[in-house]
Amino acid sequence: MKDKYLNWYKVEELNKNNYVLEETHSLQHNTCYFIKGENRAIVFDSGSGENKEIDGTKIQYQIEKLNQENIPVTLLLSHFHFDHTQNVKEFDHIALPKLKMLEDRMDGNTFHFEKKDLVLGNNPEKMEVNEWFELNQDIDLGGVIIELIHVPGHAPESIAMIDKTNKNVFLGDLIYNFSMLVLTEDWIKDYKESFDYLLTKVDDSYNFYGCHMEPKVAFKKILDAQILLTQMVEGMEPTKKDVRVEAMKWDQYVYGDAEVLILKKIPKTVKLLADLWAHFNLK
Ligand SMILES: [Zn+2]
Repeated sequence: MKDKYLNWYKVEELNKNNYVLEETHSLQHNTCYFIKGENRAIVFDSGSGENKEIDGTKIQYQIEKLNQENIPVTLLLSHFHFDHTQNVKEFDHIALPKLKMLEDRMDGNTFHFEKKDLVLGNNPEKMEVNEWFELNQDIDLGGVIIELIHVPGHAPESIAMIDKTNKNVFLGDLIYNFSMLVLTEDWIKDYKESFDYLLTKVDDSYNFYGCHMEPKVAFKKILDAQILLTQMVEGMEPTKKDVRVEAMKWDQYVYGDAEVLILKKIPKTVKLLADLWAHFNLK
């Protein structure tokens, strides 16, 4: 096995018992987070799935190393895109945020992923949901208080996790150290309102962490993103140019340190190649 698979996760302790799990070798440099209280722990996103199994698992072996005390672990997904939801089958306790759009899709205790959720590939197909977390209220992990907020825009079900005790915000794909990707133009207004809402909850006394590239996100980038999205919603026509990224056509908008890419068109061949890549590289 190549070394990169043996050292797939670059692990860093953020605060006592809170960890960043960076997949620096993954195609999109994904990052998961492990937040441990005295009574329970949260894994925020389950990995890109591009690595090889070690001792029969792709992420659980790493979590176990960080959880010698065997604190009960709950998996929480920031959103359902394929690069955040691989390996869900390695978790025996999974929670969803209490959103009507998700409750309405339940088949008993089973949630079925659809193509539009994953964007790429067809894995995972489904997961068993064991618990629903209320939004906008304190959740006590034992000495660590978290709060979940709904931040649609990148995906309709996107959430962010605020660790009020350690003053960290885990942003999912709301924003990270690359362009913000908007897959459906109609979601821009939601995206803007998500930043408005986030900024009623937290300020520059918090640290911010994204799920792609270098994990730590500067507060200025978040403020710039709010201004940029406001300009876009209000039709103020910020700097715009057409760009091609990986043969797909995007509209690019920029303000300060923030950049938005709106997907305009994916050629059929790119779709086909991407699905083929997913078929051979995920699971
Ligand atoms: Zn992502």
